[in-house]
Amino acid sequence: MTIALCFNCGETKWGALCPCEKCGCKGTGNIELDIVFSDHHISARSLEDLGKLIKRLHAADTSGQEGVCFWAFIAYISQHPSELLKANPPAEIAADVDRLLTQASLPQIEIEMAERRFSGPPANAIPLPSRLFRIYIESFPFEVIARVEVRVRDGGVIRADLVNNGGEGMLLVDESRKFDAKDILALRRRKSGLLGWLFPERWVLAG
Ligand SMILES: [Zn+2]
Repeated sequence: MTIALCFNCGETKWGALCPCEKCGCKGTGNIELDIVFSDHHISARSLEDLGKLIKRLHAADTSGQEGVCFWAFIAYISQHPSELLKANPPAEIAADVDRLLTQASLPQIEIEMAERRFSGPPANAIPLPSRLFRIYIESFPFEVIARVEVRVRDGGVIRADLVNNGGEGMLLVDESRKFDAKDILALRRRKSGLLGWLFPERWVLAG
């Protein structure tokens, strides 16, 4: 299971793409950003430290403008020596972001990378062919994340989480079970417990 940072409230939560248990925030909508700030990439202790910075920004923010805390955090990260990412706030709130960073005077913290870090696109996120995703979601509509089983070319059936990333499907799988999109033969909804054994869902075929 993944521990991830909630950009909205600064708590750590289960699952990079799941809603925060504390504030209900669904994530940033940028799947790579949400995954970078999870223990796939950053140690759990550093995620907690980063969460404290987010809380400190909220406490210091007097702008009343949406997005100022978020962008102040991103600006802090952009200036951080870890070089996790570089991004500039939108021009219309840039002055508020600068003011907040000055007021909050965030300490320079150390960001420890997780053991199983990746660079570039996450190693365990596999884009689903768009035709298959479309057929799947017509049969089994879901909003953010669904538990599925994937049948792959070598005959194996792999458990995965299917993420609806703004109309594109992305499979999140355990790193030990890596496969390519072209190896996907079929997909089905995963039922839990006994019902899953007795009445498995039908497969949605890729080809
Ligand atoms: Zn939250």
